[in-house]
Amino acid sequence: MNTPNTTYDAIVIGAGAGGLSAAARLVAAGRKVLVVESLDRVGGRASSEKIDGFTVNIGAIAIELGGVFEETFNLLNVPLDLREPSPATVFRIDGKVINVAKGGWGMLLGTFTKQAAKIGTKFADARAGDLPEAKMTTKEWLAQYTKNDTVHAIFRNLCAAIFAANADEVPARAFLTYFAVKGAFKRFGFCPRGTVGLWNDLADGIRKAGGEIWLNAPVTELHAQDGLATGVTVMKDGMPTRVHARTVISNIGPRATVDLPGGEAFGREYISQAHSVPKPSANIVINFATQTRLVDVPGLVTFGKTRRLCNMGELTATCPELAPAGWYQYVAYAVPIPAIGDFDEKTEIEAGLQDLRDEFPGFAQAKMLSVRVMRDGWPAQRSCAGFDMPQTTPLANLWHVGDAVKDYGDGGTQACAYTGREAAKHATAHLDVSRAEVTV
Ligand SMILES: Cc1cc2nc3c(=O)[nH]c(=O)nc-3n(C[C@H](O)[C@H](O)[C@H](O)COP(=O)(O)OP(=O)(O)OC[C@H]3O[C@@H](n4cnc5c(N)ncnc54)[C@H](O)[C@@H]3O)c2cc1C
Repeated sequence: MNTPNTTYDAIVIGAGAGGLSAAARLVAAGRKVLVVESLDRVGGRASSEKIDGFTVNIGAIAIELGGVFEETFNLLNVPLDLREPSPATVFRIDGKVINVAKGGWGMLLGTFTKQAAKIGTKFADARAGDLPEAKMTTKEWLAQYTKNDTVHAIFRNLCAAIFAANADEVPARAFLTYFAVKGAFKRFGFCPRGTVGLWNDLADGIRKAGGEIWLNAPVTELHAQDGLATGVTVMKDGMPTRVHARTVISNIGPRATVDLPGGEAFGREYISQAHSVPKPSANIVINFATQTRLVDVPGLVTFGKTRRLCNMGELTATCPELAPAGWYQYVAYAVPIPAIGDFDEKTEIEAGLQDLRDEFPGFAQAKMLSVRVMRDGWPAQRSCAGFDMPQTTPLANLWHVGDAVKDYGDGGTQACAYTGREAAKHATAHLDVSRAEVTV
């Protein structure tokens, strides 16, 4: 076993959105940080790959501007290489494109139900703090006001697009917290080098500020003593290497963290919670390209009545360099039923593809780039909004980051960046206290 002499202020397990955000904040605060990542690239589920000359995103494509995510990049003076589509989002219902930037949701829902004003009032109530009880689903909440199929389809597809779950799986409280209270996902952009470009930039910023990032370096064991994590064993250049740290931040999710050898230190009750509380949700990502444009929309399109398809974007409208010349490149998302729990992959993929054939006759001539099912250990969300675990753990110097420990009703990479900020705050406070104790 290799045992370097260095003791790091923080070891971050995993270079996903949450892990890199935490690392960036800690190095910006002058801490000695090591990020260890099992893959040969950074970005986790928000990364990208090359397929036949196309840059294809694996997970996140639409990165929110103007929040904690952007602030993290600013801390290290790393430019945020995003191009904003305008309009950002439209709906496509019964073959017609509806731009909600002009009349808002009220206008959209008003086309289909007389109850639009009532639903609008309930959004205002939510903003004022009057939220439904946590057990009511979004579908049940909406059914109180309308039975209209198109309105239900729109809410289902919003749940699917943002939370990767169905309206009967997402708590109404989480849905309203996201859309009405946080007012999230209004401004976002796409990275012209694929989303991995952002993480490569942030990783370079972390290294420039003195942080270390080891790739191809899976953590194989957690070490803890007297209620504190003391470090990890990492495979580095094929050799088990024992690394010491004053704090540990885990980006691999509570379940995988407690399942590491050494995870017994969390205690039986917490281990059981880490297995049962987070509800991983699934989606199906369909990447394809055409030589004739299917839909003339620069941002994301959310659909009305579909089987499984929820939203889609033609990324080359804003970032033509993602595809070889002459090609239009799209990503479409389908969410299985159920999204939380077991489903038949073949049936669910076929339902999503059939939706695309129905929506766009030109899809028949598309070049298929990839169809990926994100589920289980590599899911769309490690926990659906409303079912997250806390970031703190029974080990006083170990915190989780990422999409199993999001703030209530939060979603996506912005939510992960927020967990990174919170973990960095906890770690800094812990390091300050332990340093003060040593001095005394
Ligand atoms: C298809 C899809 C579309 C999405 N679209 C959007 C979008 O448009 N906008 C948006 O904001 N969000 C989107 N999301 C959500 C977003 O991608 C995720 O919420 C986010 O990337 C999760 O990041 P994370 O911090 O939880 O880390 P993860 O991505 O889970 O990264 C964890 C890292 O830990 C590594 N690791 C695992 N085990 C070990 C180990 N033992 N040792 C070392 N390293 C280890 C993994 O390899 C991985 O790199 C989408 C997700 C999916 C799947």
